[in-house]
Amino acid sequence: MLDKEISFYFEQELARQNDGVELIASENYPSISVREAQGSIFTCKYAEGYPGHRYYGGCENVDAVENLAIERAKKLFGVPYANVQPHSGSQANFACYHALLKGIAHPKILSLTLNDGGHLTHGSPVSFSSDLYQVSFYPLGEDGKLDYSIIKTRLWEEKPDLLLAGFSAYPYEISFSTIRKIIDQYNKESNAHCLFMVDMAHIAGIVAAGLCENPCLYADAVTSTTHKTLRGPRGGLILSRDENRKKDLNSAVFPYAQGGPLEHVIAGKAVAFGEALHPDFISYMKDVLLNTKACALRFAELGAEVSGTETHLFLLNVLNSYGINGREAQVKLEEIGITTNKNMIHGDTLKPKDTSGLRIGFAAVTTRGCKEEDAKEIADIIHHVLKGNLSKEEATKKVQILTKKWKKIEKLQFSSISM
Ligand code: PLP
Repeated sequence: MLDKEISFYFEQELARQNDGVELIASENYPSISVREAQGSIFTCKYAEGYPGHRYYGGCENVDAVENLAIERAKKLFGVPYANVQPHSGSQANFACYHALLKGIAHPKILSLTLNDGGHLTHGSPVSFSSDLYQVSFYPLGEDGKLDYSIIKTRLWEEKPDLLLAGFSAYPYEISFSTIRKIIDQYNKESNAHCLFMVDMAHIAGIVAAGLCENPCLYADAVTSTTHKTLRGPRGGLILSRDENRKKDLNSAVFPYAQGGPLEHVIAGKAVAFGEALHPDFISYMKDVLLNTKACALRFAELGAEVSGTETHLFLLNVLNSYGINGREAQVKLEEIGITTNKNMIHGDTLKPKDTSGLRIGFAAVTTRGCKEEDAKEIADIIHHVLKGNLSKEEATKKVQILTKKWKKIEKLQFSSISM
């Protein structure tokens, strides 16, 4: 049966995505194969448990698919353990904290100050993380970069059971090996057992392409989303270099945190991991980094206050550059077909509902074929619109010229709905 109401919105959304410049750093366009996997027959199947040990019959095909996803994830990140079942990055973090900290009375976590780029699940008062754990924080240094001596000091002050790194809005490389050394030294000198967890949700694609340090080599466990730079379906992932953690991590995901796995999404993860293992993915990720850098540099040339970048994202201080807050800038850009999100920046004086900054990322537009010249032009358009030098009509026209040059997001050919 054709569902006209819902298919109308499918059409609208496809047009919005095709006609727009998508700069939200946590978004991407997975391949049509990944999207087809998510719409596949595997959505029908209940498969509580793990391959070979399910609570339901008829699992031979989901077992094969989930095993493929696991093996590909292990190969991609060079680890002996992977769990591909977390429904999301938040679920992965929930399960991972539980597995690493269970049995400890009043467990303590040390993570990055949320306004400096941490995620809600890293200790926000509105998240389960601050209810279940005692969370304290390390700030960035004055230059907006991680200061490893501050991390060291905070570690000795707070004596946490787990130190967390990996963030939502941090534009620079993270030295996971340095943090590992700090923790090892602390554990040795204090006879402590602090664990190291990395949430690489944002940078998983950069890690997979081998273009930054691999946190899996240094952390006790690593969580991720699969839908950001990794360009897979919306979902979560847990990895560990320590196979002995398998039992605790597996049982923390199922049955502790979740019920039946989303095997259609796991099929999509398997496809995406296969794509990320292909050399083309490395070229893609290199282009993402080049485009991000080109855009940030262009903003700096234009005189805007912008962070540096060594990743797929940077932060633009719109308050200091254009005299408007992040919320207002986000709305102005959305009106001309550029999607961004307001973001707190280091030392922000405004509230999270307003913010002084915008977070700008290039994973999605690079998938569509954005090149460095386009990235510079995007900076020009944003700069002049926010300065008030470029009318809405002129800016929209420029956005349309750009997006017409790029690859279209494909339409799925389903027979009963139109996407
Ligand atoms: N961890 C980090 C660092 C993130 O940036 C995000 C999402 O933006 C998450 C976890 C949560 O992922 P999800 O939205 O899939 O729950």
